[in-house]
Amino acid sequence: MRGRYWVETLGCPKNQVDSDKLEGTLVADGFAPARSAAEADLVVVNTCAFIEDARRESVEVTLELAGARKEGARLVVTGCMAERYGDELAQALPEADLVAGFGVPVTLGRKEPQGQVPRLDLLNLPRPASRRPWAYVKVAEGCDRACGYCAIPSFRGPQRSRSMDSIVAEVDALCVQEAVLVAQDLASYGRDTGRPAIIELIGAVAARVPRVRLLYLYPSDLSDALVDAIEATGVHYFDLSLQHASRPLLRRMRRWGDGDRFLARIEGIRARMPGAAFRSNFIVGYPGETEADHDALLAFIAAAQLDWCGLFAYSREEGTYAAGLPETVPAALVAERLAEAAELQDHITASCRARLVGTRTSVLVDERGVARSYREAPEIDGFIAVPDDLAPGSFVPVEITGAEGPDLAAVPVAVVAGR
Ligand code: SF4
Repeated sequence: MRGRYWVETLGCPKNQVDSDKLEGTLVADGFAPARSAAEADLVVVNTCAFIEDARRESVEVTLELAGARKEGARLVVTGCMAERYGDELAQALPEADLVAGFGVPVTLGRKEPQGQVPRLDLLNLPRPASRRPWAYVKVAEGCDRACGYCAIPSFRGPQRSRSMDSIVAEVDALCVQEAVLVAQDLASYGRDTGRPAIIELIGAVAARVPRVRLLYLYPSDLSDALVDAIEATGVHYFDLSLQHASRPLLRRMRRWGDGDRFLARIEGIRARMPGAAFRSNFIVGYPGETEADHDALLAFIAAAQLDWCGLFAYSREEGTYAAGLPETVPAALVAERLAEAAELQDHITASCRARLVGTRTSVLVDERGVARSYREAPEIDGFIAVPDDLAPGSFVPVEITGAEGPDLAAVPVAVVAGR
């Protein structure tokens, strides 16, 4: 054995997939997992660089692990921050033995010139079976869009879709009950190869696992055919990346749509699938955001009644279109608007959840006492508390017996029937 490793993953589900694959290469290289970073011979931090807060967290965690590691252990920083800032980050972080961009082997020596080593194709590396009954499956890398605030295309590159065969093989290898399909721009899967194939992909994966869930759908790509395909999976969950609802501000963000069109789409889906669950993300404080823009967002949130919502303060990103825009919204006003929107949404989420008490659904038990129905994506939405004796990985029909904020409690229908 070459030693023990610890991989610390920050950021989004796509980074989680990269970490899983990184672990696969380390095991193949003769390393074994450590129980803690302090026990490891090789500590790897898979960083996020999407926004300022994420970068700050990446540096803080790296410094923490630098302090926690044992004598002689190597510390490697990889992921988006390593790719985006490279040598600049290496100079700023002397604690790190290596700052390795995407696909640079984390076992590389400090002195070995990164430019001369073959990069690993993280996207298509094999993955070990999942330790959980669900797993993220990254179907493409990069993005071909140019949203005003987003730097991802600058360091993740243009969209690169995987072959359907490699995705299906990975789903089989993961041995899961739920596959969560992810990409920067999921609905565009295959477009870069000249053959848009998201609907075919959903069908192929749905034929292999009981549950298929989709994250990161760009609203203009939510075609009738895609809605049909999602409906056919039985997982009536729509994660729509809307970002705002004001038409003039969305244009300023270089994005499609407006609140009225989004609402019409959501209501159309609800007419077909009354129990459908919706999630979205919104940015508050984009340059030039007016009181009228913000009111439009609040009105949309109130009207749309989304189950789940991520709300983020605008982060100025070097190299993006928005970084050059005038009319910065003062930080105090951004914080005020964010709090207002969050308060409104928290109330909506809690009432959506409370309305489920007394209803029945099927849940996947993720771990002892914790389960999810089709309405909850892993890690980002609430969960359903269930009796500890339910086996992880099993699907169980339950009755919802209580709600507390985003989380629910439930008991197996069999238990209800027996009372
Ligand atoms: S769709 Fe827009 S926000 Fe998402 S990764 Fe692409 S450019 Fe960034």
